Amino acid sequence: MSAPQVIIIGAGIAGASTAWALRQAGVSDILILEQGAQAGMHSTSRNAAILRTAIEQPALQRMALESAEFYRSASASFAEQPIIDAVGLFVTADKHSNSQNWMPSAANSCVAEIRAHYPNFVDADIDVWHFADEGTLDIHGLLQAFLKEQTVRTNCKVDEIIYSNDSACGVRCGDEIINAQQVVVANGGWANHLCSNTGLNQPFSPRRRHLMVSSPLGQISHDLPVVWCTGDNEFYFRPESGGLLISACDHELVDPRYGENIDPNIIEYIASKTDHWLPGLSNIQPKHLWSGLRTFSPDHAFIIGPDPHKDNLFWATGLAGHGMTTAYAVGQMLSAWMCDKKCTHPSANDLLPQRLVDVPRLAGI
Ligand SMILES: Cc1cc2nc3c(=O)[nH]c(=O)nc-3n(C[C@H](O)[C@H](O)[C@H](O)COP(=O)(O)OP(=O)(O)OC[C@H]3O[C@@H](n4cnc5c(N)ncnc54)[C@H](O)[C@@H]3O)c2cc1C
Repeated sequence: MSAPQVIIIGAGIAGASTAWALRQAGVSDILILEQGAQAGMHSTSRNAAILRTAIEQPALQRMALESAEFYRSASASFAEQPIIDAVGLFVTADKHSNSQNWMPSAANSCVAEIRAHYPNFVDADIDVWHFADEGTLDIHGLLQAFLKEQTVRTNCKVDEIIYSNDSACGVRCGDEIINAQQVVVANGGWANHLCSNTGLNQPFSPRRRHLMVSSPLGQISHDLPVVWCTGDNEFYFRPESGGLLISACDHELVDPRYGENIDPNIIEYIASKTDHWLPGLSNIQPKHLWSGLRTFSPDHAFIIGPDPHKDNLFWATGLAGHGMTTAYAVGQMLSAWMCDKKCTHPSANDLLPQRLVDVPRLAGI
C-alpha cells in the first residue's frame, strides 16, 4: 500500500468530520483507521442525538452555533435527509443557579409550556428556556455524509504512533507500519492509550453514561420537544419509538473497555430521577438500555490542534457530551491547523493541546 498523506486514528464523528473538512480543503489522500468492525460504533452511535447549543463554555457554544447553522443549511449534496429535526428544546435551571451566567439573559419560557407537552412534568419553581429551532440530529446521516468517499480501514487497531526526529511519520498496527505525512488522533475514550511520547500526559477522563428507552407510552408523539433539566439533579428526556429516551446523566469514570457495560444499579438510579422530574412515571419499563463514553479533558473543553511536542501530530479529542452538536466546527478547526498551520477560529486558542502540557496524569486509566 502506498503511504497516504494523512492517517486519522478513529472513525467516530471526530475523525469523520476532520476527514470531510480536509477533503473540502483539497486533501483527498486520507486513510481512516478504525479498530472496530464498522465506523462510528462507539460514542458516535450510542448518544442521545440532541442538538443543544446552550453550553457553559463560550468556546464550545460558538462551535455548537456554527455547526447548527451548517447542519440547518446543508445542501442535498451533503446529506439526502435534513440533519436536524427541529422539534424544539427546553432547558431548565434552578432559580439563581450559575446557569444564569451562561444562558441567554432572560428565561423565555415556563414550566407550564413543558407541561403542555408532558403533563407529568414536575410543577416546580424553576427557570425555563425554549430553543425552538433545536431538537434532534440524524446522527447516522451526519456520519455517512462526513464519510462519503473516504477510505476507512476497519478492524485495524493502531498500537502506536511512529516518530522520526520528533515528527509523527506513521503508525504501527500489529506488525504493519503505515507511513504518512500527518497523523490525527481522534480515538475518543481511548485517547490516553496514544499519549506516549507526545506532549500530553494521559489527561483524558472517559466517563460512562447510560440511556434508556422506555416501552411505548400513550400520547408520546415523535415530534414532542426535548427537555433538558440542568443543575445538581441533571436529567433529560425526549420521545423515542413511542416511549421516552431518558438519561439520568450518570458520569462514572471508567476504563474505556467497560464503557459499554451496563451498571446493574442504573435502572434504580434512572427511576429515582424520573420520579423527581416526571412524577408518576418512575415505574416505566425499559425497552432498551445502553451506555457509552463521554471523554473529558481536565477543563472539560475539547482538545483540538497540533501536539505541543511532536510535529505533524494533531488531536481531535475530548469532545465530552457535545461531539455530535459541534462536529462540523471540530473538523473545520483541525483542518485549518493541518493545512494552513494556523486557525483563526475564535475558539481555536482555547482548545489547543498546549494548555495541558503541565497537567499531571489524571485518572490512571
Ligand atoms: C450516553 C451519551 C449521550 C450523548 N448525547 C449527546 C448528545 O445528545 N449530543 C451531542 O452532541 N453529543 C452527545 N454525546 C457525546 C458524543 O456522542 C461524543 O462527543 C462523540 O460521539 C465523540 O466522538 P469521537 O469520534 O470522539 O468518539 P467515538 O465515536 O468513540 O470514536 C472514536 C473511535 O476511535 C476508535 N479507536 C479507538 N482507539 C483506536 C485505535 N487505537 N485504533 C483505531 N481506532 C481506534 C474507536 O473504536 C471509535 O470508533 C453523548 C455521549 C454519550 C455516551
